[in-house]
Amino acid sequence: MNPALLPAFVTQLNAQRESLLAQVRQQRGGDIGRADAAANARHNAEGDWASADAQHDLAVALEERELAELNSIAAALQRVADGSYGRCTDCDADIAEARLHAAPTALRCIGCQSQHEAAHGGVHAPSM
Ligand SMILES: [Zn+2]
Repeated sequence: MNPALLPAFVTQLNAQRESLLAQVRQQRGGDIGRADAAANARHNAEGDWASADAQHDLAVALEERELAELNSIAAALQRVADGSYGRCTDCDADIAEARLHAAPTALRCIGCQSQHEAAHGGVHAPSM
């Protein structure tokens, strides 16, 4: 990782965190915001979401997803601080700059990420 590139990624990570926090605040801010968020998530989800229980589960799931994303942003900033940002955690190769621009919290290069997903039942993160 060329150190001259780091500030751009830090800016991107901070912007991502800010927009996520703004989204969380909006969802916590009132019934309308939360209902909109639930409707959007339901639109993207498969299956039936008819019951109040499902609505509640969805709200909890959103919080967990947000928390996981905030944690991954914090971890990426920590890697910037300790100098390991931009290196694959599996093979130690530099992660492609274009990949980091698309996904600044990426831990692995494309090759290792594919293997990781294949090894964990083919679970895919939402595409960005
Ligand atoms: Zn790798």
